[in-house]
Amino acid sequence: MKIEVQNLTKKYRNKVVLSDINLKFENKVYGLMGPNGSGKTTLIRILLDLVNPTNGTIIYKKNEDKLINLKNISIGYLPQSFDAFEDNSVEEQLEYFSILKKINKVDRDVEINKVLELTNLTKERKKRCSELSGGMKRRLGIAQSFLGKPDIVILDEPTVGLDPYERIRFKELMKKIEIICPIILSTHIIEDISNLCSDVIVLRDGRVLYEGTTLEFINPTNIFVYNVDSDKLQFVKEEIIKIRIDNGYKIISNSRLNYSFLQESTVTVDDAYLFISKYKRIDSMQ
Ligand code: ADP
Repeated sequence: MKIEVQNLTKKYRNKVVLSDINLKFENKVYGLMGPNGSGKTTLIRILLDLVNPTNGTIIYKKNEDKLINLKNISIGYLPQSFDAFEDNSVEEQLEYFSILKKINKVDRDVEINKVLELTNLTKERKKRCSELSGGMKRRLGIAQSFLGKPDIVILDEPTVGLDPYERIRFKELMKKIEIICPIILSTHIIEDISNLCSDVIVLRDGRVLYEGTTLEFINPTNIFVYNVDSDKLQFVKEEIIKIRIDNGYKIISNSRLNYSFLQESTVTVDDAYLFISKYKRIDSMQ
């Protein structure tokens, strides 16, 4: 499955929320990042066909160049506020979703068993949804999003509110998933990106600030991090990001600085994200 987002613009009244966005999705796991208000939810809502774009198109191609209509696309979606009917058992709830997804009756059991297995909920299949822990409920949400061989899966902040144990389970679960369609994972958590996503998209102010592999994102070759004493900071003329630390500043720059500052040997994902989301000039990305 290939999805091409072409020249996508969304305005609400006069406010531009997405500005001429171009993106390509293939069968990979994409991390969608960006500060609040950067347009992530709007992009997801357009991909889900819940909102019409003001301009631009989204093209879906199944086999190489064969275009398909959005109406024939099966979308798996885990919303931020996923909930289940309290009185339903886990399997009844999945049966219900299978009907909504128009999965043939003969295929339903196989499909349900498959996603129960995938999300480690097989033993819980008879449990009432009201008895599920937060983490189990989230797994049920993931199970329903993968029901019926979706053409694209969108998971909106899937790890928010999970305890560390459930977070690890989620990571393990994602590793088991066979990536046979584009999976878009919207998240604020940088660790999710480095653990789960092969590619990263960063939005800011409705524009694409970064689009590329996670490897490049977390190992940027053009970012330098130094520790600097407070009184030396005034000498720095370059454009930098500074973060107050115990006995001075940590500074991030996109050029090697010729001062006698202590350079950190590794650049963390947080450093890279901070730098990209604050200082990458949008016009240089076009
Ligand atoms: P994110 O998910 O990255 O936080 P959103 O897509 O929710 O960003 O929002 C982007 C911008 O669009 C925000 O400034 C938000 O206020 C605005 N916005 C979103 N939905 C609407 C709407 N229905 N009407 C008007 N403005 C909206």
